[in-house]
Amino acid sequence: MNIGIVGLGLIGGSLGLDLRSHGYQVFGFSRREQTCQQAISRGVVDQASVDPAILAAVQVVFICTPLAAIFNTVEQIIPHLSTNTVLTDVGSVKSPIVKAITPMWTNFVGGHPMAGTADSGLAAAQLNLFVLKPYVLTPVATTPTQAVSIVEKVVRSLGATVYYCRPDEHDRAVSWISHLPVMVSAGLITACMNESDLNVLALAQKLASSGFRDTSRVGGGNPELGVMMARYNKEELLRSLHQYRYSLEALINLIEQEDWISLEQQLKSTHLARPHFLESDLG
Ligand code: NAP
Repeated sequence: MNIGIVGLGLIGGSLGLDLRSHGYQVFGFSRREQTCQQAISRGVVDQASVDPAILAAVQVVFICTPLAAIFNTVEQIIPHLSTNTVLTDVGSVKSPIVKAITPMWTNFVGGHPMAGTADSGLAAAQLNLFVLKPYVLTPVATTPTQAVSIVEKVVRSLGATVYYCRPDEHDRAVSWISHLPVMVSAGLITACMNESDLNVLALAQKLASSGFRDTSRVGGGNPELGVMMARYNKEELLRSLHQYRYSLEALINLIEQEDWISLEQQLKSTHLARPHFLESDLG
């Protein structure tokens, strides 16, 4: 099967490496000639071009450009696709994308791999990024079942675990486990950096170990992606941020009141809840 990848960055490049390793022929389309050349020399694609006509003979296209560029990217490539070509995207927010693209292309299946790193661009692409990771597909009532089966088959070949849900369910769920954590983690880093005593700040930096490394990781990721999550999933992100603020205020209150018993109860409950939450995530 011939597969097209549009946007050869972290996700597009990683998809290309995996798909080629599974025997697919991969055709890349990117806006910059330099990216095309780098993609060919890194073995991410079999062929690449700045001309969307390169997608004329592919059966499936993965749109891997930033969220803000997905709509324009699809508009740009559609005239060059055969009518049976199945389009899918990897955008981190689904409702606005699915709403915009579905009327433009019948064979469109929204998708989102739950995998990434703090880096961006082709240089960050890596083999096996999607192995054992969740990969969400969000078909709607009008999506042809054959298109869904084709995308599912390709995604399964990456070693990912496929989940289905509605676009709005996806956006609410990822707000809790992906978009809110980015903002919370960014807030944590900002709060620490605002320590006014420079000696204390320097000491904190030296003492920072695995706990701070874990909790600050996603706040130190790709800034462009964080802004896109907030812009395109604004309502759900605000909803979860307000709930988080409520939880923080409740914790502040318990500490101010020196209500150690209630605090212990709450921490016991989160201690028990976390493994259960993460276990059910593995399905
Ligand atoms: P990335 O590494 O920055 O790659 C984006 C690619 O798109 C680059 O190769 C760039 O091409 C191209 N591009 C940038 N702006 C463009 C524009 N205006 N028009 C056309 N092409 C453009 O980003 P990424 O992390 O792979 O993210 C890509 C998509 O994956 C996003 O929709 C994001 O929501 C989704 N996603 C990201 C993650 C993650 O953790 N990073 C996880 C899951 C899904 P040039 O090299 O030619 O400049």
